[in-house]
Amino acid sequence: MSNLLSEIIEHNHQFVISGSYSNFFTDKYPNRNLAILSCMDARMTELLPNAMGIKNGDAKLIKNAGALVLHPWGSVMSSLLIAVYELHVYEIMVVAHHDCGAKGMKAEKILEKALENGIKQETIDVIKNSGIDLDTCLEGFDSVEDSVIHTTNMIKNHPLMPNHIKVHGLVIHPSTGQLTVIKEDL
Ligand SMILES: [Zn+2]
Repeated sequence: MSNLLSEIIEHNHQFVISGSYSNFFTDKYPNRNLAILSCMDARMTELLPNAMGIKNGDAKLIKNAGALVLHPWGSVMSSLLIAVYELHVYEIMVVAHHDCGAKGMKAEKILEKALENGIKQETIDVIKNSGIDLDTCLEGFDSVEDSVIHTTNMIKNHPLMPNHIKVHGLVIHPSTGQLTVIKEDL
């Protein structure tokens, strides 16, 4: 077992034995009828819920690189639709952040790193020739504000998203946790 995995398993053993889990009891329906799409940035792990006043059980939290919806039929969109139809979510907040690693991220650079890590050029060629759009899969954004507006529009205008669901767009500061509302769904 890797050192990290054994550390985590050891911690988990203590966590369960001590009964610490009882502080987290809740059910699967979010108490505040809210789903949040945010970035996977490690600075957000505790900062984002604390800065938003979100407790365990309050919201469905979906995270990826950049708080993006890359594809209308991908896993983020399907999670949001499940949250709405099955889990009593009435409001969605897209919360991206300043200084995001996805800002300026280019497919080309990621593929260069893939080559350096032993992925063969012919593998990349086969993927591209199969009609996979690697640019869309691996591309970030230039402006965080524009990206938030684009993502909220994609969610709001999705053909399976009911019109009464509110979709807001925000940006959070990665140090202070200050939120700026970019787009409010009135
Ligand atoms: Zn980020």
